[in-house]
Amino acid sequence: MRRFMKIAFYGTKPYDKIWFEPMGKEYGFDIHFIEAACNRETVFMAKGHDAICIFVNDYVDAEMIDALYEMKVKAILLRSAGFNNVDVKAAEDKIVVLRVPSYSPEAVAEFAMALLLTVNRLTHKAYNRTREFNMSLNGLMGTDLYEKTVGVIGTGKIGQAMIRIFNGFQTHVLCYDPFPVEGLEAEYVSLDELFKSSDIISLHCPLTSDTRHLINKDTIAKMKNGVYLVNTSRGALINTEDLIDAMLEGKFGGVGLDVYEEEEGVFYEDKSGDIMVDDNLARLMTLPNALVTSHMGFFTKEAMQAIARTTLENAYALENGLPLVNRVGIEMVQA
Ligand code: NAD
Repeated sequence: MRRFMKIAFYGTKPYDKIWFEPMGKEYGFDIHFIEAACNRETVFMAKGHDAICIFVNDYVDAEMIDALYEMKVKAILLRSAGFNNVDVKAAEDKIVVLRVPSYSPEAVAEFAMALLLTVNRLTHKAYNRTREFNMSLNGLMGTDLYEKTVGVIGTGKIGQAMIRIFNGFQTHVLCYDPFPVEGLEAEYVSLDELFKSSDIISLHCPLTSDTRHLINKDTIAKMKNGVYLVNTSRGALINTEDLIDAMLEGKFGGVGLDVYEEEEGVFYEDKSGDIMVDDNLARLMTLPNALVTSHMGFFTKEAMQAIARTTLENAYALENGLPLVNRVGIEMVQA
């Protein structure tokens, strides 16, 4: 008789259950929904499960890999495309790591554009004003996107969706990627050229040792004054302190951040009753041209459904000895 695969589902939010609960039953999996994030303190909860399922602000380091291996956990099922939060090298011969490489690139790209339009046209401020019957326009002037030069860093699935959106606004699209793709309606240029020429820069590359703090005081110095910056990729692409310093000097027209380098343990949680001890995050919130959202670019019905489907298909493939097409291998993290 088939033994149901047991999955410890870390970091459960009510919206995860909407799809994972019924679909899990469809596949016959025994999913144990755990509210706690996966970290060194909670890894013991994986005991008795065949797999753990984690999201972007959970992590699994080398020490935890050893603990999971001892507990006979066979797989780490990532509910995300990015895998910078798992020590893939440590996992290589011990535990299979599976991810969701693509669910809805449009969801993230559309959100990046929403962030840009908001910091530029200040609809979030207008909304608050008109609710108080303050109909003044003082301080709400934006700029046209039409015919501006935009720079897209990383031309993978989300970067390409962003290029399509930018073309809809009739901008001139520059892009940079160490692995260029043919046939895009955008002009590949060097990173320096992109920094120098762009009125708007949107980040769509993964977080790797090469891209950590890609945006720092030196690269910011190369950018135009009044540049707009949008980051929906990973927080540590930006050196936050350098960004804040430059914002205080008035370098940026606007900055939209859906991700933040110290977001773990803060994003996805209601911290409204707590004292904010992260000075950089608190500082960002005080800057009138910064908009921070809580890593929600992926958060559409379509994307959530696709994430659940692929995560469970990955588990099904593992259980049934099928090809593991979404495996994260050591070759993907070696420079
Ligand atoms: P992808 O793998 O399809 O594309 C990433 C691209 O970045 C590739 O073309 C790759 O060649 C390029 N790249 C690698 N190193 C680079 C470098 N040094 N400089 C410039 N480009 C480089 O990934 P994707 O699906 O487009 O996702 C991009 C990123 O978006 C993910 O890594 C993840 O961090 C982030 N993401 C965020 C959300 C969210 O909710 N905000 C959701 C999904 C993904």
